[in-house]
Amino acid sequence: MTKFDRISRRIQSFRDDMIDLQVRLCAQPAISPAAGGEGEGKKAEILLNFLKDLPCNDIQVIRAPDLDAPSGFRPNLLAYFQGKNSSRTIWVMTHMDVVPPGDLAQWKGDPFKAWVEGGKIYGRGVEDNQQDMVASLFAIKAFLAEKIRPSSSIGLALVADEETGSTKGIDYVLRNSNHFRKEDLIIVPDAGNKEGTMIEVAEKGILWLRFKTTGKQAHASTPQKGINSFKAACFLVTELQNLYQVFKERDSLFEPPFSTFEPTKKEPNVPNINTIPGEDVFYLDSRVLPKYSIDDVEKQIKKMAQRIEDRFGVKITLEEQQRASAAPPTPAEAVVVKALQSAVRDVYRVEAAARGIGGGTVAALFRRAGYEAACWSRIDETAHQPNEYCQIENMIGDARVFAHIFLQG
Ligand SMILES: [Zn+2]
Repeated sequence: MTKFDRISRRIQSFRDDMIDLQVRLCAQPAISPAAGGEGEGKKAEILLNFLKDLPCNDIQVIRAPDLDAPSGFRPNLLAYFQGKNSSRTIWVMTHMDVVPPGDLAQWKGDPFKAWVEGGKIYGRGVEDNQQDMVASLFAIKAFLAEKIRPSSSIGLALVADEETGSTKGIDYVLRNSNHFRKEDLIIVPDAGNKEGTMIEVAEKGILWLRFKTTGKQAHASTPQKGINSFKAACFLVTELQNLYQVFKERDSLFEPPFSTFEPTKKEPNVPNINTIPGEDVFYLDSRVLPKYSIDDVEKQIKKMAQRIEDRFGVKITLEEQQRASAAPPTPAEAVVVKALQSAVRDVYRVEAAARGIGGGTVAALFRRAGYEAACWSRIDETAHQPNEYCQIENMIGDARVFAHIFLQG
């Protein structure tokens, strides 16, 4: 029997213990103070005890100050396991915090008393992000039980505050410690798909703008006495569609493979039909491929707005609602991507591919700090929904994927 077969069998044998840990973690609702909860304190205690019992070679608790948490801080746990080769560390980062359950009437049971039904565990947080947190913990436990040393050193980062911005989570850890090295592999199992075929390596940049167009109010029967702000804004919306031409390059990593510029929200202007609106407000949601700079996009938008101002005699003011440059993508050829592909192939018998997405993930924080991080997991994507569940087979399979990578030389 190969080492991997032994570890795999051992992980299978932990099935009930994995479910048990899921249930215990679920019973400590680690909702961020910003979302009305107490934070991760009690959940971190369970995890800290689990890590000490394993045991691991080193545990660091990095406390991010937070006066809204009962303890005054938010805990981030870094556990370290010595491998044969300590020149690089394979990190698996998962987050302890969960989002609130939402409308309880939509739940079949108590979201914080996890239950098993039809091969699934139900409860808030069981998929996001406990499935892979538990999987990574038991992958390590299997190495220790089989007395097999992993090829590289292993690090588990169990962090706080992912759901409300990570400033007291991995962002704080990256700013206040130097545990990560450029040659480390960083796996963030907090995004994925049903088949386990998506390795997320890149995000588009985001620019959300509010456009206020000011003209001159008048009676609708005498439009010549006013300036129709709504009409001018409509021409601007049409003009903005030319951004698709100006920034037309494609990147097949992404779906869709181009930048997008979509008018979205519209605020009401006048309440009646027979008034020329003197003021109009709409919003634009732009998702920009990493090869373009957000500054350039904004410059183009300002030029377009200027043209509409000149043509209609309106004043257009732009207000930024959100702006985030794309983090440098992790190359599709990066070691962490190759390692995941090889493990996913052996465990799930599918080919996983590097992909980019339109929104942001927590891995972007690593990428901005200069580390090649990849997001992967095999999940049904029930995060944040009522009756969130984790497929028990995915929890076990993902543990085997991590174990496979820990064995890779
Ligand atoms: Zn998550």
